[in-house]
Amino acid sequence: MTTLVWLRDDLRLGDNPALTAAADDADGVIVLYVLDEESEYVRPLGGAAKWWLHHSLLSLREALGRRGIPLVLRRGAAEEQVPRVVRESGADRVLWNRRYGQARSHDAALKAALRESGITVRSSPGDLLFEPWTVATQSGGPYRVYSAFWRACTAGPPPAEPLPIPEGLLPSKRTVESEELSSWGLLPTDPDWAGGIAARWEPGEASAVRALEAFLETRVQRYARRDFPAEETGSELSPHLRWGEISPRQVWHRTLRAGGDTGMFLSELGWREFAKHTAFHFGPLESSNLNPRFDAFPWLTEADEGFDAWKAGKTGFGIVDAGMQELWRTGFMHNRVRMIAASLLTKNLGLHWRIGESWFWDTLVDADEASNPFNWQWVAGSGVDAAPYFRIFNPELQQKKFDPEGAYVERWAPYSVALPQIIDLKSTRGDALQAYRALPS
Ligand code: FAD
Repeated sequence: MTTLVWLRDDLRLGDNPALTAAADDADGVIVLYVLDEESEYVRPLGGAAKWWLHHSLLSLREALGRRGIPLVLRRGAAEEQVPRVVRESGADRVLWNRRYGQARSHDAALKAALRESGITVRSSPGDLLFEPWTVATQSGGPYRVYSAFWRACTAGPPPAEPLPIPEGLLPSKRTVESEELSSWGLLPTDPDWAGGIAARWEPGEASAVRALEAFLETRVQRYARRDFPAEETGSELSPHLRWGEISPRQVWHRTLRAGGDTGMFLSELGWREFAKHTAFHFGPLESSNLNPRFDAFPWLTEADEGFDAWKAGKTGFGIVDAGMQELWRTGFMHNRVRMIAASLLTKNLGLHWRIGESWFWDTLVDADEASNPFNWQWVAGSGVDAAPYFRIFNPELQQKKFDPEGAYVERWAPYSVALPQIIDLKSTRGDALQAYRALPS
């Protein structure tokens, strides 16, 4: 028996159920990653995400290589590439960890097709603490309110203990050709804009584990101050979780073992679960309002000069400009600042949340199919359990409250204080509220 392990959003060796299950194969294992830019159900990766993927695959290849297992890289539609590598390798078993977004029905179809041709296929729990279908309301439906969702999650059995890195993986006897990672063109060249991203981040499983340990050693004690962007109290695990370099189960159990007051941090993992739960039941999230009432909202649907100023960090609102600069230069933005920037775009500049969501999708290293549109809709008011529409963040008050010394603005956009503000907060707020009140109920 030869086993093909198809990795997707799980670029790690630890707590990897598919890889662990493959370790019992005496005839060896092939590990495959497919860059699928063809299938319509796969959202094309943004620039920052491509940069991350390149480095994450390098790191994975090295880790597998140390165990004598080659990583096979293929580009094309997964439903063609996976069966092709099955044929080339003579594999009689295919294993993967589940995806819960748009890809899942295609995974199911591929599973059925492979089984029909006599291949054994098994999927294992993927990148969630709780399988989405195991968390249901009393009437058996999905949750729409975070607090009730998280209460239900935490009332049931705890997430499974993470698996160790499997010992004894054997390489397949047959060699299967791999494409060159460099030929995929995932890195920016002309110009290479990724210098600031490379200076801040180190993709890969080892670095993800280090980031978690560093967080638990120091930052977690100050996590209650997580809304203050200059204080850097977050774990910054989001890109590692996005690419599955670490699993939420590993984060959960390691955090509990570390002890202390970690409930607030773990409940943030709950928001990640809730975004994926929502995508599983109501997705795709990036294309339509979760609350159809907002289909009639008169958002501007064409990017305009307001959008240009917003994305360049030139709005004259210091905390927003600093956030947009942090994003552009490092592929990341602090959570509270993401909310303030998204509010300015959707509620003061009057632009459709999809315009801002696309920009984040292209520039975030943690750009996630569920979390990004889920949070944009949360801020815009069109989501499930969204911030009430009348909650419009005032960027000046938010800055006073969460960056009182101006340290965050000074770090990323000191020039902003000299810029004129591109809009009047009060009148645009009034316009937004008026448009909201005119929506059909
Ligand atoms: P921590 O505070 O250390 O939290 C731990 C983990 O919990 C995070 O790594 C993340 O995986 C998860 N998490 C925390 N908050 C949220 C949240 N609100 N929603 C979902 N998961 C959460 N997060 C993404 O991972 N990808 C995105 O594309 C993304 N887009 C966003 C867009 C907007 C407009 C907003 C307001 C938020 C978005 N978030 C997104 C959520 C959040 O901003 C980031 O997860 C967080 O800033 C990551 O920093 P951290 O790892 O230090 O988080």
